[in-house]
Amino acid sequence: MTLKDNYNRDINYVRIAVTDRCNLRCFYCMPEQGIVYEPKDHLLSYEEIIRLLTILGQLGFTKVRFTGGEPFLRKDFTQLIEKTAALSAFENIHITTNGTLVQNHIPLLKKLGITKLNLSLDTLNEERFKKITRRDDFSKVWDTLQVLIKENFSVKVNAVAMNGINTEDIIPMAELAREYPIHVRFIEEMPFNGGAKENQKIFSSKEILSTLHKHFPDLKVLSGKHGDTATEYTAAHFIGKIGIIPAFSRTFCTTCNRLRITANGEIKTCLYDGGVFSMRDFLRSGATDLEVKEKFIELIRLKPKDGFEAEKFTTQSVIRNESMSSIGG
Ligand code: SAM
Ligand code: SF4
Repeated sequence: MTLKDNYNRDINYVRIAVTDRCNLRCFYCMPEQGIVYEPKDHLLSYEEIIRLLTILGQLGFTKVRFTGGEPFLRKDFTQLIEKTAALSAFENIHITTNGTLVQNHIPLLKKLGITKLNLSLDTLNEERFKKITRRDDFSKVWDTLQVLIKENFSVKVNAVAMNGINTEDIIPMAELAREYPIHVRFIEEMPFNGGAKENQKIFSSKEILSTLHKHFPDLKVLSGKHGDTATEYTAAHFIGKIGIIPAFSRTFCTTCNRLRITANGEIKTCLYDGGVFSMRDFLRSGATDLEVKEKFIELIRLKPKDGFEAEKFTTQSVIRNESMSSIGG
């Protein structure tokens, strides 16, 4: 059984931000000085996360993604993934990471069968990496990518495409999918940057596609899986794929299958909804498993039709001041 919302969408994928802390300072995600981090006891504990996952498993959820902040920065994160792997419901455990702290954990990830990683990398140029992330860690991330490929991980490289910032990286990054069996996905920038900047000029998915088309005239669209946010493409002699994620244009909402839990335990039924319920406070007030289950069912039913409808009920200042580091992407 899978839960359905009021728009008949199957909801079976949960994304959990395990921390809002990060060792990078990507300028589209947070200001240079960072964001005001949640006190540690405001984060969901691992016991609370496992309890929620157990309940979601009973509600038909089969996929979980751990994200952040940087998930590998949270103490004993690997214990959380070990415990999650022991839950039978989740056949798909995925992680999104900036790739700076993963390498030591690769053997354990393999042992647990967690081989699907999203690695964020916006440029292949060391200087631009430094400008975008405000840290000097390009070679660490690049080495991690190479090791993951060598170890046969299924890797999706996520790049936020920003006009005039990394436009010249689009083709070299897409070329990675010719050389390696990876997905290289270009994401439209979204406004969740912890108040770091206003008036973004979005480099739209249409512009990304036209940039790619000029270089790869034989670019061919592939038929996607249900719930995919990326439209995927291939071109001659590619062993990997290229994807475009219209995260700002929001053209994928009709097949959205996801629920988000932010670092402080807030439920988001849509990325653009500003948070609809504090599951952390509910758990800590003594809610029983049955009450939590009923609450999830109620919240999922009320999932908005799309990101535009969600945004209507959220003030712009809430959206602008949220950081993707607390939401989890
Ligand atoms: N720290 C990890 C990382 O960077 O992969 C996980 C958390 S990060 C918030 C998750 C994803 O959100 C990354 O791929 C990042 O590029 C993306 N992201 C962050 N801020 C964004 C924004 N304003 N617009 C679009 N994507 C964003
Ligand atoms: Fe950190 Fe990821 Fe945000 Fe960059 S995008 S600052 S790596 S949480």
